[in-house]
Amino acid sequence: MRNENKMTMIKHHLTEELMIAYASGNLAESFSVAVATHISLCDQCRAALESYNAIGGALLEDTEGAALSSDALAKTMALIEQHPPEEKLQAAKASNVPAPLADYIGTDLDAIKWQPIGMGVKQSVLETTGAGSARLLYIPPGTAVPNHSHSGLELTLVLQGAFADETDYFSRGDIEVATSDVSHTPVAADGTSCICLAVTEAPLKFTGLLQKLMQPLLKI
Ligand SMILES: [Zn+2]
Repeated sequence: MRNENKMTMIKHHLTEELMIAYASGNLAESFSVAVATHISLCDQCRAALESYNAIGGALLEDTEGAALSSDALAKTMALIEQHPPEEKLQAAKASNVPAPLADYIGTDLDAIKWQPIGMGVKQSVLETTGAGSARLLYIPPGTAVPNHSHSGLELTLVLQGAFADETDYFSRGDIEVATSDVSHTPVAADGTSCICLAVTEAPLKFTGLLQKLMQPLLKI
């Protein structure tokens, strides 16, 4: 039977290492945002994450309890009653921005404030603490991002449109996990502008002289 949904199916997933690090709370904020956003779009990785969380839960249940102060329960319940649940979730549902990312960039991809970084490509840096850096990239249809390799891990999650590089084709929800031995030139597909969330562990190593000179200005 032909599957009409095949075109929008996610083909590129998180690695086991990333999911275990996320489940155990060991990822820097920049990487956590990308992992959480992919999981919100991908049933397969969400199911895998639940099984890792179950391992954590089993470990917790086997842990000997440590007593809290006698009024801890009453204080917690009082705090819960003071703060009724917000309507934030509903707002995120009506948006083209997945919920984990909406806290950083708002709920509208069209309202992002971009900084041009040359050749029609634009970026918007996310405010995160800890190691790594996260940014949105806007790549016009048919345009290439300068060829670069990585000093560390780079995650690229597609939010709109699609791109292709030397390894494969990536569309909405797909996440590319590139290690330091990968050097690639992502090119946005024709039609729609491609918007990606890109997270890097260490500064990118651009191979062109101009990009090398510009790197300190772009803060990447
Ligand atoms: Zn996945």
